[in-house]
Amino acid sequence: MIVLGEILAQSSTVYTVTVNPVKISNENKEKVASKLSEIFELDYNETLEKGNQNDAIENIAKKVDKEKTDLLRIWMDETGILDGINIDEDTKRYYPYGSLASHIIGFCGSDNQGLDGLEAKYDNILSGENGSISKAQNAKGATIGEDGETYSSPISGDSIVLSIDSNIQSIVEKYLEEACIDNVCTDGGSIIVMNPKNGDILALANYPNYNLNEPYTINDTDLLSNWDNLESSENSEYLQAMWRNKAISDTYEPGSTFKLVTASAAIEEGIVTDIDKSGQFTCTGGIEIAGTRIKCWRYYRPHGSQSLRQALMNSCNPVFIGLGQQIGVSKYYDYLEKFGFLQKTDIDLYGEAGSIFLAEDKVGPVELATISFGQRFEVTPIQMATMVATIANNGKYVKPRLVTATIDSETGRRTEIDPIYGEQVISEETSQKILSMMESVVSEGTGKNARVERILNRRKNWNF
Ligand SMILES: [Zn+2]
Repeated sequence: MIVLGEILAQSSTVYTVTVNPVKISNENKEKVASKLSEIFELDYNETLEKGNQNDAIENIAKKVDKEKTDLLRIWMDETGILDGINIDEDTKRYYPYGSLASHIIGFCGSDNQGLDGLEAKYDNILSGENGSISKAQNAKGATIGEDGETYSSPISGDSIVLSIDSNIQSIVEKYLEEACIDNVCTDGGSIIVMNPKNGDILALANYPNYNLNEPYTINDTDLLSNWDNLESSENSEYLQAMWRNKAISDTYEPGSTFKLVTASAAIEEGIVTDIDKSGQFTCTGGIEIAGTRIKCWRYYRPHGSQSLRQALMNSCNPVFIGLGQQIGVSKYYDYLEKFGFLQKTDIDLYGEAGSIFLAEDKVGPVELATISFGQRFEVTPIQMATMVATIANNGKYVKPRLVTATIDSETGRRTEIDPIYGEQVISEETSQKILSMMESVVSEGTGKNARVERILNRRKNWNF
């Protein structure tokens, strides 16, 4: 089971119906085919054909509900046609919230094996063992042992408890969808909400998402209407794209948000000691690097004299390029490493992508300049969220996680999983300066669209 406070995924009992054609008498074959096709909504001729095979066993219906097999049992009792029709118990995964957190939870295949998301990553914990009867036999096939037969009852799988807050997750999904539609984001979008104190992912959403109870139904109405006319390779490609957890599997160019890394390194290395020192930097609309002039985004009306705080609020490229040059390639790559950009975060999901950076020895002055303001390299959204969480966690690296505890299905015992922390990337003092500047970016700077009054007020009461 996958649980938050509520159950997000669980197994329910379903049935599989098979026939042994050779055990069904010729006079009953048509009656059986007629009843089976009626109950399970199958093509009569195809069902009859299965009943006429010489095979030992033919599949009729997989994972059907009890109501349907009850109808079949009643008919079998009434008619006395019992031989050659088998009804076997099976389990099916059910997701009460449909599409909620679909890219995190993932789904199971017809054999109940986890195929995607946490269902795949934690398959060994979540899946139980089927009950079985085993017979001990000697070489001649005769039964040995006391009664010759041991029975083991089925064991339910254990449960995992997620860090996801279903309220935040629903809100994030709702507004991500709205934003993607309003802004015609053809590549969709992703949002990650993380608690910097312990790495708990409170929400992780990608748009578009899909219904976990019907993972093989495409979520695009245009594609769906034409689905059967597509090549199966195209079907597969579209489904893979729909299941893709872009927040961890896709890389992107982060742009100006990456200036936080440059600012962190500059303060930590003592290149900037007073973030409010006025006139420390001057923007003339661009900067000359190894014979190449790199423009500020506001080259047409240069920012002029600025402190570091003002430069971050203005998102002024030349200031960060200048800082990058002073930090130098080797030190800059140390910070990339420490903030977790040169390796995967190892979040508990399959399919995480790594970042794309030039090898350190290939980075010249121009390359370092572009990295300093977030261009010409790619990182994953989860790496970016982890970097910001690390800054907010007083500068100590915190690993993102989705599972906070496991619950043993037999004993009910809950085992908490401890958060994982890495090294102190920047000092607490540096982190306070960065957080203070981040607040200014949102309250008065280029990030004003993200200003949320209640959050700004609340931060004043945080006990950093
Ligand atoms: Zn500028």
